[in-house]
Amino acid sequence: MKQTLIGTLSEGRLLHAVLIEGESGCGKKTLARLLAAGILCTGQGEAPCGECPACRKILEDKHPDVEWYGGQGSRSFHIDTIRAIKASAYVAPNEAAGRVMILTDVQNMTVQAQNALLKVFEEPPENVTFLLTCDNVGKLLPTIASRATVYRVENPSYQEGLEFLKGKMPHKTGEELSVFMRAFGGNLGWCQRGDSEDFVTLFWSCIGFLKRAGKGDEFGMLKQSAAWCEKGPVLLEALQILRYLCRNLFLAGSNAGVLCTPDLQETQEELDGAGILSMISSLEKAQSLALQNVSAALCVCQLCADIKLRQLS
Ligand SMILES: [Zn+2]
Repeated sequence: MKQTLIGTLSEGRLLHAVLIEGESGCGKKTLARLLAAGILCTGQGEAPCGECPACRKILEDKHPDVEWYGGQGSRSFHIDTIRAIKASAYVAPNEAAGRVMILTDVQNMTVQAQNALLKVFEEPPENVTFLLTCDNVGKLLPTIASRATVYRVENPSYQEGLEFLKGKMPHKTGEELSVFMRAFGGNLGWCQRGDSEDFVTLFWSCIGFLKRAGKGDEFGMLKQSAAWCEKGPVLLEALQILRYLCRNLFLAGSNAGVLCTPDLQETQEELDGAGILSMISSLEKAQSLALQNVSAALCVCQLCADIKLRQLS
């Protein structure tokens, strides 16, 4: 994809708006930053050169003509932000020939905000490129996607990903890295979180939770998840890990080589495809409660009860 984009840039064919699609952790922001450097690069030869002052500032997030907007969380991208973007977009650049505005996680935009953004796209300010990132184009108004060039970032193959991770985390064993590669389906952003000991502990507590869930052991699930209630973000992270693990279990149902760890072998036999899908529904429900700022303890109780109830029905 980098090569395609560099080719498009060098031929001057890049449109006013580019939409980068891919799951969280796949490298959309990294790509957006590189693309911004490619657009504003002042070096010789193929852009981005990575050496000129413009490239260096952009790669360090210090360039005054590259602006970042957006954030995490449900529906957190409001129309006020679009108004700020609009006001800024029509101002002349500070030092570069143009400006780049990077809007991240635009799937969190309200419909109102998306409509306001469309208005800006209809009369695009001169020399401004909008780079948008989102996890799923389907969550946006079709009119937004149709006004942008859409690029989809895919995860690398198992071997490619493993090689990359070995370079990034040389102190980890191949087996540890392989567990993460399989668990996260090749999502390098999530795999690299495995560098932190806290994350590794959380990851294995999620494996423990799934094992209890496979047995329908509600008390066991509650005990495993008690530690997730200490800080808000931990719970959301745990729920996302569990979703990845469920996806891994589901895929392992049709391809035995895929299972991330032998610890889950038994669980995989206990839960059939329908059981895993229903668990994913329970997890989605808990995620949406957690995003609405329902207390973590309540979310966890609800999650465990919901999984148990679905198994009984
Ligand atoms: Zn450069």
